[in-house]
Amino acid sequence: AHHGARRIRALAVQRAIRVEEEHHDQPYVIGDPLLLEQAILVLLDNALKYNRQGGSVLIRTLERDGRAILEVCDTGIGIPPEHLPHLGERFYRVDKARSREAGGTGLGLSIARSIARLHRGQLTLTSVPDQGTVATLSLPLARSAGFETLQHRPALR
Ligand code: ATP
Repeated sequence: AHHGARRIRALAVQRAIRVEEEHHDQPYVIGDPLLLEQAILVLLDNALKYNRQGGSVLIRTLERDGRAILEVCDTGIGIPPEHLPHLGERFYRVDKARSREAGGTGLGLSIARSIARLHRGQLTLTSVPDQGTVATLSLPLARSAGFETLQHRPALR
């Protein structure tokens, strides 16, 4: 999952997966851009790797309940419910044989979850086997997190 955006695009082309984006709001978050990028790449990488040939991926951003939300929805093989609670664990993989074929270590999601927590956020997965998975990254909105814009600092008044 530590592959750059270029690899993501190549993977989508190779597997004939249509990637669509839907941006409803422009939620601002405060954080480390490289870490957040890494977390998003993990989710995209999984949405492509565990998809079916000719499937699709939808990336949505929105604001909900004062949170910035990024959803990555795929039309892939899905995750059996008994595995869902374990997916944040390091090295946990649903199906060793299948996953080995797709490549990977089972670290991607645990890293993405750590990055989410570091930003006071959450990473949750919901899934229907044989239909697909939705990974939801939820982060505090910049303004609701108690941050103020610089020009409002008392020192500058
Ligand atoms: P890597 O560390 O390279 O990402 P990985 O993909 O095996 O390897 P994780 O990203 O942590 O590791 O994912 C853990 C397991 O969860 C995967 O092996 C896979 O079985 C399952 N999984 C993750 N995302 C999805 C998804 N979108 N659809 C179906 N299964 C998934």
